Amino acid sequence: MNLFDMESDVEQALRLASLVHHKYSSVFDDLPERDRAALAFYFLPHGSKKDVLEVTRPRVIKWYCPFADQRAFPSGHRYCINVYTGCQHECRYCYAAGYASRQPACKNTFRADLVKDLDALDAYDVPPAPVHISNSTDPLQPLELEHRHSLYTLDKLAQRRHRFTTVTVLTKNPAILTDQRYIQVLHELNQLSVDHPRREWFKENGHPPLRVECSLAFHNDESRKVLDPAAPSVESRMAAILFLSQENIPVVVRIDPLFPRDPLPGGKVMSEFDLPDIQPMADLESLVRFAREVGTAHLVYSIAKITRPRFGGLPQVMEKMKRVYEYLSQEQPLVWRGGSWRLPADVAGPLVVEPFLNLCGRYSIEAKMCKANLISTP
Ligand code: SF4
Repeated sequence: MNLFDMESDVEQALRLASLVHHKYSSVFDDLPERDRAALAFYFLPHGSKKDVLEVTRPRVIKWYCPFADQRAFPSGHRYCINVYTGCQHECRYCYAAGYASRQPACKNTFRADLVKDLDALDAYDVPPAPVHISNSTDPLQPLELEHRHSLYTLDKLAQRRHRFTTVTVLTKNPAILTDQRYIQVLHELNQLSVDHPRREWFKENGHPPLRVECSLAFHNDESRKVLDPAAPSVESRMAAILFLSQENIPVVVRIDPLFPRDPLPGGKVMSEFDLPDIQPMADLESLVRFAREVGTAHLVYSIAKITRPRFGGLPQVMEKMKRVYEYLSQEQPLVWRGGSWRLPADVAGPLVVEPFLNLCGRYSIEAKMCKANLISTP
């Protein structure tokens, strides 16, 4: 029995849905009435006196990106679970530093809150949607060894598998997943039972319902230390990715983010900005070749953003990278968007992205921009 046994419940939920902020309305409006009501009850505050409602109600299984307008970022009905807050990997280019504290911490009531949200999904009979673990923190950072909240999350999602379509785990530390407890639950999540509402669709379209997305932007560990100083080594990540692929866990390699490389236009080189050539083409080629060997479904990339941290100043290495960006963009100002400086598209395209895409083409691997990858995850 669920809370929609009475027509009055559906009416109340539809009244809530009619108040949703217009940035989400395309998702709600496109749904059948019953699903719209379910989303309204799950995502929207029930007792609010406001005239316009934000998707603020869930505790930990949240709307993928509550800041973004669906027209600019059409993520649709999609969840994110940020298992921890902050991140111990200390990536110098971390985009999450622009809107959240980077102080790593465990959420004290995380497990109880997760179960309450799962119960709510059942109570409102919410149709299945993709879930991403996590977009603002690494779910497998060292905190996981102590707290195991991500393992707990995966177990709980496996128990309610019919509430989710693709389960995506995004990490720089795949070595934790080689523990048999994780392998077992990943295999469970990679199966949709006969009564899963989307089983036939996944089967017909050949999509695995699980993805472990591993970030591997550098091939040289000295380069990795410059930009991901506290994250696992290149060797550790490659060994774990290989292990997971041999275990038939669907892995997607993320060569993400991409940075400018030598030679820079005008005969300059990175060392003139006091930076090493951290991502030379030869290293990118080694990564693409590795990705093909481990059978990645595709590659994911983005162009590095220079994110101004919400707390504290820009890391020194990113100050230097900003000077490279300013040099590359010449007369044009850098694009300032969403708390980050970016290379203008007509500069980043030919200098950073196209040589990488040509390389992927030579190895017959599709490469998807980060946002396109997210939106196309069913
Ligand atoms: S792993 Fe991700 S969340 Fe953690 S510091 Fe690096 S970019 Fe930020």
